[in-house]
Amino acid sequence: MFRRHARLARLRAWTAQEFAIRIKRARFRSFARRMDKKVITLLKSQAYIDGTWTGAPGFAVLDKATGAEIARVPDLGADEARLAITAAERAFKPWAKLLAKERAAILRRWYELILDHADELALLLTKEQGKPLTEAKGEVIYGAGFVGFNAEQAKRIYGEVIPSHKPDARVMVTKYPVGVVAAITPWNFPVAMITRKVTPALAAGCTIVVKPAEDTPLCALALAALAERAGVPKGVFNVVTCKDPVAVGKVLTTDSRVRMVTFTGSTEVGKILMAQASGTVKKIGLELGGNAPLIVFDDADISRAVTGAMASKFRNAGQTCVSANRILVQAGIFDAFVAALTAEVAKHKVGAGVDAGVTQGPLINLQAVEKVEAHLADAIAKGAKVIAGGKRHKLGKTFFEPTVVTGIGRSMRMWNEETFGPVAAITRFATDEEAIELANSTPFGLAAYVFTRDLARTFRMSDALDFGIIGINEGLTSTEVAPFGGVKESGLGREGSHHGVEEFVELKYTLIGGL
Ligand code: ADP
Repeated sequence: MFRRHARLARLRAWTAQEFAIRIKRARFRSFARRMDKKVITLLKSQAYIDGTWTGAPGFAVLDKATGAEIARVPDLGADEARLAITAAERAFKPWAKLLAKERAAILRRWYELILDHADELALLLTKEQGKPLTEAKGEVIYGAGFVGFNAEQAKRIYGEVIPSHKPDARVMVTKYPVGVVAAITPWNFPVAMITRKVTPALAAGCTIVVKPAEDTPLCALALAALAERAGVPKGVFNVVTCKDPVAVGKVLTTDSRVRMVTFTGSTEVGKILMAQASGTVKKIGLELGGNAPLIVFDDADISRAVTGAMASKFRNAGQTCVSANRILVQAGIFDAFVAALTAEVAKHKVGAGVDAGVTQGPLINLQAVEKVEAHLADAIAKGAKVIAGGKRHKLGKTFFEPTVVTGIGRSMRMWNEETFGPVAAITRFATDEEAIELANSTPFGLAAYVFTRDLARTFRMSDALDFGIIGINEGLTSTEVAPFGGVKESGLGREGSHHGVEEFVELKYTLIGGL
């Protein structure tokens, strides 16, 4: 009775504003509690091989914002990788022999299940990867897009009849799945990088063994759980978890039963995998590092350029291979652009991705923080100027301040390597020719961005930039309907669109003579 009175008195003392804030907080807490409960249904702590959940608890997967353990997953090795390949090989023929529309129907069910579980997948993603919940939800929707698209595309892997070179013959080209595929995926998009590889492979009739990144295996396992519910037959999609990727990676790239390796990650590791896969001449798909220029011309719409730069640079705390790594700004707009970008950066809220209003989560691990620090120290020593941020965030752990630096140049590490962190590194240029030269002076060629309102310049830049993806007046280009991929040391092949599925088929030419 007394407690009730005390509570009522407290309630009366609150102002309307306090009341609103408290209701908002309570709603958020109850949302988080509900989500926590839901996640348990998709939180798997075993690997998935041949339609069976398998393996003893091995290494811990941590919540990147708190450092708390979310789950322990099996630390598997070469033997389990071989078992997964055996399962995928056994499953290959029956899966490839299904009618395209039967494979499409299963993929479609998987797509719907992912969308039905989008909130809990997003929460799991935020916990194991660190990105804010709204970004995580965006990734789940984007990742599901590949499943839906490839469910359709499964039915459209058309062959050809080519006008014959002989009077009594027919030239026919048919398409066949390449066979067992091995996929090695990174931690920065733990949902989308799985679906972007697995679903074109499955649509084409291939089976697949996935080795997810050691920092983020839980989304891969959650996706496997939904694939199982959708009716993906056993052995068609396998997930092998491990802490140290070398042994499993070696098997996946050297076993002759694997006919294609698809990898997203660093150029350094991509080159190792490519060399390993050469022994058995596997098909290969590589999405490697970038060093994206973002060019802002004097005639740009400045607020659009700032929005584009923010999206490209600070999404996922700058940990994407298409993040703007060098921001090149024409002299006439330089000061205004830097001021506007810095004002926008100041609005960033750093914190745990599950907290309301947070726009930048933690970096993936301490090595990532140390790399950002090393790049900044090197740039400062060589004359760059820090305009905002520049150090670890007061929240500690792996949180880093959103940072703006100007005066970057060719001698600096952040010019030549991906910083992979929340650092907008800016320099000034004078002419179009100079911008093109600065942008192309890298062994990489994944994404480039241009901000201009001049139509002729738009086409000139699109032609002149040696990159696989060009965003004009856009900082976000990724979508399942367009081909994603790079040139030069940024990789081989494309993912997404009808081109993405074509990577997983072999052409067969049949000449029918004597007609
Ligand atoms: P990042 O530097 O972004 O972590 P990595 O290229 O190191 O990128 O990692 C991407 C993926 O490659 C992860 O799944 C990781 O486990 C895997 N990987 C790293 N080294 C090897 C290796 N030697 N063999 C096979 N896989 C590897």
